[in-house]
Amino acid sequence: MNTHRQGEVPFSKKNVFRRDHYSCQYCGAAGELTLDHVVPRSRGGHTDWDNVVCCCRRCNAKKGNRLPEETGMSLIRSVHKPRYYPFQWMHPRMSGEGHLQWRKYLEPFPNA
Ligand SMILES: [Zn+2]
Repeated sequence: MNTHRQGEVPFSKKNVFRRDHYSCQYCGAAGELTLDHVVPRSRGGHTDWDNVVCCCRRCNAKKGNRLPEETGMSLIRSVHKPRYYPFQWMHPRMSGEGHLQWRKYLEPFPNA
């Protein structure tokens, strides 16, 4: 996973947050975020695009070392590696990142 070709998005915490729009991939909350291994490392999960998601601390604590199915939690969308480096990542001011403050008002159930 450390082999990154030209134009590919390098795997990093920041880029996972960006891919997931700085919102928890279980409940949609923004705020205090961390990374979660969908399949915990202790259960053989790897640290890569398709197994790591942005997660709020509450869901992270709730999930612990279990699989999402075991907790009744599910990802709000499937995770995947970005296929290309999104244009707006190179031009943050043109993306929605500046509007995160009012993003919560657009989410129907921000803290469900
Ligand atoms: Zn959450």
